[in-house]
Formats: sequence, C-alpha cells, structure tokens
Amino acid sequence: MTALTFDPRLVALPNTHFVDGKRLTGEGVIPVYGPSDGRLLCHLPEAGDALVDHAVRLARDVQMRSGWASCAPRERGRVLRRWADLVDDHVVELARLEALCSTRPIAETTAWDVPFTAEGIRFFAEYADKLGGDVAATQSDLLGLVLAEPYGVIGAIAPWNFPLVMGSWKIIPALVAGNGVVLKPSEMTPFSIIRLAELAIEAGVPAGLFNVVQGTGPITGNALVRHPICGKLTFTGSTRTGIEIMKAAAESGPKPVTLELGGKSPQIVFDDIRNVDAVADRIVRAFTGNAGQVCVSGSRLIVQKTIHDALVEKIIAKAQDFRAGALEHAATRYSPIISQRQASAIETTIHAALQEGASALVPLKRLDGPGGVFLSPCILSRVTPQMQAVKDEVFGPVLTVQTFEDEAEALSLASHGTYGLAAGVHTVDLGRAMRAVRHLKAGTVWVNRYGRSSDFVIPTGGYGGSGIGKDLGRQAVEANLRYKSVLMAFES
Ligand code: NAD
Repeated sequence: MTALTFDPRLVALPNTHFVDGKRLTGEGVIPVYGPSDGRLLCHLPEAGDALVDHAVRLARDVQMRSGWASCAPRERGRVLRRWADLVDDHVVELARLEALCSTRPIAETTAWDVPFTAEGIRFFAEYADKLGGDVAATQSDLLGLVLAEPYGVIGAIAPWNFPLVMGSWKIIPALVAGNGVVLKPSEMTPFSIIRLAELAIEAGVPAGLFNVVQGTGPITGNALVRHPICGKLTFTGSTRTGIEIMKAAAESGPKPVTLELGGKSPQIVFDDIRNVDAVADRIVRAFTGNAGQVCVSGSRLIVQKTIHDALVEKIIAKAQDFRAGALEHAATRYSPIISQRQASAIETTIHAALQEGASALVPLKRLDGPGGVFLSPCILSRVTPQMQAVKDEVFGPVLTVQTFEDEAEALSLASHGTYGLAAGVHTVDLGRAMRAVRHLKAGTVWVNRYGRSSDFVIPTGGYGGSGIGKDLGRQAVEANLRYKSVLMAFES
C-alpha cells in the first residue's frame, strides 16, 4: 500500500448542500455510487424550488451587501489566491473525495485535478482588477465610459466528468467578476465541491455568496436555471441538456448563457508526419484518457491512406494494455465508465456499428475489475459517416478510423453537421496545417499535439452544437460581466 492508496470506507462523505457558509443536510433520496466498484456510497438530498430560491436570494443579498462587488477588486483577488493556497494544502482530502465518486484515479486527482484546480483559481484571481471597462473615444466635451459590472447571481451547472476542474471553471470567473454563484454539481459527483466551498469560507469569501445545491437536472437544475434572480447561466454538459437550458433561459428571462457542450472531435493525420510512433501515442491518449469520457476526446481518426497501415498498426498495439483497478489504489491509471447505464449505451452504439458493417480492429470488452464497468479501448474501421458511432458523441474509449486520399477529402470528412468542439491536425507542412485551421469549424484546433496546455490563457469552447461562449482565458471572466454605457456632458 503506497501513500496514495486509501480506504474509501474511512472517508466521511459531505453528502449535503452548502448554503450560507454551512453544510445543510436533507433527506437522502438520490443514490450515489462508486464507479470503480459499483458500491452504494450514500443517498444525496435534493434541493427543490424552495431551497434553490433561498440559495439564490441569499447569494444576491450577500453579493449586494457584503462588499464583494464594491470592494477594491484586488481584495477579491487576494481572497481567491488564499483559496487556491488552501486547495493546495488540502490536496489529499480533496483528491480522495474526487476519486470516490468520479471516474478519476487517486494518482491523477492528486497529481492533476486538485493542483490544476488551485492553479486555475490563481489564474482567474489575477483578472480581479484588470477588466474594469473602457473610456470611449467620443467628442471632446463628452466623457464616454463603458463600465464592466457583474450580473449579480450566476446560476452554474456542472457535469460529472471532472467535477472539481469543471466546477471551478464556472465558479471562479463568476466570483472574480464580482458576482454571487449558485452551483449545482452533477448528482453523480457531489462531494469534492462541498469541501471546495468550505475552503472558500476559510479564505474569506463571504458566507452565502457561493452556495451549492444538490439534486438532479429536472428538479434542482431546472429550478436554478429558471430562477428570475439568476442574471446569467453557465453550463457544462451534453448538447441535449444545453438545448433544454437555453429554452429555459429564454422562457425565464431572457438571460444569457455560456454553454460548454459535447463534441465528436476529428484527428487528421497526413502522411508527412515524421514520428509515426509519437503520433500513435497522441491518438491513443486522446481517445482513452478518462476512458474517453472527455468532451474533447479525439474520437474520429481521419488518416491519409498512404500512412494508414503504419499508423493504425501502432495504435492497435498501444491500445491493448489497459487494466481495471479501484480508483482508490495508487497503481490504477485507467478509468471506469461512470455508470452501468452509460456503459450499456456505449456497447449498444458499437453493436449497431458492427451490425451495419463496421469491423472492430480492436473489440470493445468489459475488463475484469473490482465491480464497476471498465471498457477496454475499441477501434472501429469500415465505418460510414451515417453510423451513430461516427455521428454521435459516444463518451467512451472508442476510436473510429476513416481514410482519405487528399486534403480536400480530409477536411470534408472532418466536418461534422452538429459538433465543433475541437480538432487535431498532424502534419509538418505549415501551409496544410494553416489551411486546415482556417477551414475547420471548431472552437479549438490543435496542430501536432492534442490537448490543452497546462496554463489557462487559451479559451475553450465550441462552435455550433458544441456550445456558446468560452471557459478559460480572459474571455471566461468577461462572460461574467455586463457593460453599462455612460455618457457625461461637462456642463448642465
Ligand atoms: P448532462 O447534460 O447529462 O448533465 C450535466 C449537468 O446538467 C448535470 O449536473 C445534470 O444534473 C444537469 N442537468 C440535466 N438536465 C438538466 C435540466 N433539464 N436542467 C438543468 N440541469 C440539468 O451531462 P453529463 O453526462 O453530466 O456530462 C457529459 C457531457 O458533458 C458530455 O456531452 C460532454 O461532452 C460534456 N462536457 C463538455 C465540456 C466542454 O467543455 N465542452 C466539458 C465536460 C463535459
């Protein structure tokens, strides 16, 4: 047993809401399971209309009277930096809570999810006093000001796949801009965010400014997005739910939305790549990370015919050695599927593709494990763009392989009728890379790499059905501000 390995039965579960700076218990009604062993961890309470209303009104009142919005903005930055330091100080505890119910192994939550959350808080904290607005160029006897102001309360909804990281990308830009926040985490991954909220209070965030309400989408999520006091909504999750949220925002506002939604991201590989082995590594990591349960999963390989055999042979070899393991064990590297339901949906999609003529270069298999569902990576060839496995977000460790003759065919195969989240282009020809960058309808294009950098400066977000607006970068903070135009004459 190494230092990282822990006994999940000894971890106290914060299965509560967090309102007014305190945990708030309620009748447990939603079962929460550990994905790697399928064990029932607890029952979670569900916030109905009354509690959501209380949390939102409180956030509004505290936002208005605590001085959070009106203080010298650097003070907000100082509080947030203290919060980041506390997150680093509590890495063991937060990493365990994250590994308990999400799909993230303890080695990864310790090395990446928690430190990355802390560093993200620091990144956004630096914007506290950097985005005040503008002086407008107008006639010289007038003063034109564009004042950046917070919305008041931001309603935030997070998914289950990276609960701390995704949650903090919603909460922190909203707070640094001077807003209050009410967050609903996924009902499958409710714990780590409660400790994050407690650390906020310790850092100096006023009690009640940031509240967490637990519950399902149709009950708690719906009450939050429709609340008249939420001035803006920020959501990360599936495209289907994003559409529902946008409808609710229109009907209950209208109010603006940031939507970070699903993807079906292509990886185009041209035959001029120099290091086939390195590209094969990149492709495998991009569709097996978190067992494919990543919005930007590089799930569609589009490879030039002349290099297909050499590349795919290496990808197949590298996609073999994946082992199931309990998330609380330090040696575990591969993620389980979040739920039985999600695993069955993945299997159904693969089965349908095979029925329709696809062939499995590497078949999908259930791996023997500690009780949850682990699916081995699957590679499908002889696929068509009409197949669900190619069209829809599978959200599992599945790669489809299509081939092309020339650049025009590659770009045509890469384009997707719905999604436009991310794309990868692998070539040493700069002109070819830039033509692809210009052509691809995607919010992010990676050239000769696949995945975000470890800083936070580059915004992330989708085109088309993959979303509206950006998380990360300066743009994420700006999205939590609205702009008041002021025109002053010098005499009256
Ligand atoms: P989901 O849409 O099922 O749920 C996301 C959140 O929305 C959960 O908290 C859920 O309870 C809530 N919700 C569900 N219905 C709701 C409703 N009617 N009203 C209000 N809230 C509602 O998504 P998921 O399964 O949790 O997450 C996986 C999805 O998230 C994938 O599609 C993935 O691509 C996407 N995702 C996108 C990004 C990105 O940055 N673009 C990042 C991570 C995940």
